[in-house]
Amino acid sequence: MGRAFVYVILGGGVAAGYAALEFARRGGYSRGELCIISEEAVAPYERPALSKGYLLPEGAARLPGFHTCVGANDELLTTKWYKEQGIELVLGTKVISADVRRKTLLTATGETISYKTLIIATGARALKLEEFGIQGSDAENICYLRNIDDADKLVNAMKSCSGGNAVVIGGGYIGMECAAALVTNKIRVTMVFPEKHCMGRLFTPKIAEYYENYYTSKGVTFVKGTVLTSFEKDTTGKVTAVILKDGKHLPADMVVVGIGIRANTSLFEGQLVMSMENGGIKVNGQMQTSDSSVYAVGDVAAFPIKLFDGDIRRLEHVDSARRTARHAVAAILEPSKTRDIDYLPFFYSRVFTLSWQFYGDNVGEVVHFGDFTSSSPRFGAYWVNKDRITGAFLEGGSREEYEAVSVAVCRKAKVANMDELGKQGLEFAIQE
Ligand code: FAD
Repeated sequence: MGRAFVYVILGGGVAAGYAALEFARRGGYSRGELCIISEEAVAPYERPALSKGYLLPEGAARLPGFHTCVGANDELLTTKWYKEQGIELVLGTKVISADVRRKTLLTATGETISYKTLIIATGARALKLEEFGIQGSDAENICYLRNIDDADKLVNAMKSCSGGNAVVIGGGYIGMECAAALVTNKIRVTMVFPEKHCMGRLFTPKIAEYYENYYTSKGVTFVKGTVLTSFEKDTTGKVTAVILKDGKHLPADMVVVGIGIRANTSLFEGQLVMSMENGGIKVNGQMQTSDSSVYAVGDVAAFPIKLFDGDIRRLEHVDSARRTARHAVAAILEPSKTRDIDYLPFFYSRVFTLSWQFYGDNVGEVVHFGDFTSSSPRFGAYWVNKDRITGAFLEGGSREEYEAVSVAVCRKAKVANMDELGKQGLEFAIQE
């Protein structure tokens, strides 16, 4: 049993949706030549909605409202759209092995799908507690958040514990966004993580302090510098408490775990060159892997960042998924016209009424600016390396202000005096 396509997009997440739109816009295929294979049962959607609109107690986002590409204020690609465009959606179908030399994929249903050109868009999976030696994370009130099924489980768990206690394990952006959603659903939250402060990979202690104080004012308790070791469960297997390394017992009606992700590379290990330090499939500036018929995009791809002098990075963010996907399609359909990708790393998050954006790289000396005390804040930080701006963070900015700091990072704006930079703050970027 088998089918043959010219173009196959493996994975049906954010990158797949944006790649499909780019194919349709460029018109570089005929009906039936392009397919998306996805383990998920639904057409590609904007994954960030799962920790934001999807978890709201009222007026929650639901499909088809957040299929790609609405997150970039573009067309809403429903299943009808794919049909009209002649793009085959092979949903609810897991690929269990790939043969790059033969250009075939084998699905769990036993079908062999062949391609001339493959775009790998398999994204990443949430790390499980078992991988850290902690058993029992399949309990009905322990939740992860990577796909719609996870989000539905989380919504059901929240419904059954209104007014109760939740423990959030992990202080990254999944932990922070889920904690905010739990509070909005009237659930008391304790966050547990081993680092000294939240968002340890990005925030400075000063930035983290602002968000932690804000969360505390919303009733969130932080337990930092420790990890969970086990769970207490009732006779039905439901978690009733979380036990920490320092011996503390935290009562829990539900637990949300956000302890990081791992890129889904396993189908291609030993067949394509990997970026060991980034844990992804290594690609060039055309998003092309070590096999010229295979491209990789989104969370699974480790690609060169021109702004960082060609340093290879794997980014776990939605903007990168959208742009690398579009770039790969351009490179496939119009290779001679497509230059190497020139991408400015960009991350954002929205929690409660707060909203921040970050551009570039958080290396070098940090200069903070703005008002960290207000309840409607407008503050930020620049990272400066060798007298040049390498990164910028801004909370509460306007569209123009975010644009200004992104341009300052893109241009690697020169910094003559660090004290002056702190005093000038946003003005520095605006005047640039
Ligand atoms: P994904 O969207 O993960 O898609 C991967 C797809 O591949 C899935 O459909 C999966 O089922 C499929 N797949 C994998 N393996 C197989 C297989 N063997 N066979 C078939 N199909 C397979 N980023 C931000 O910048 N800002 C945010 O605020 C933000 N919020 C987020 C909130 C949540 C809850 C999550 C989970 C992520 C968030 N992100 C955010 C990150 C962002 O969503 C990802 O960077 C983006 O989804 C990556 O897109 P992708 O297409 O590479 O991978």
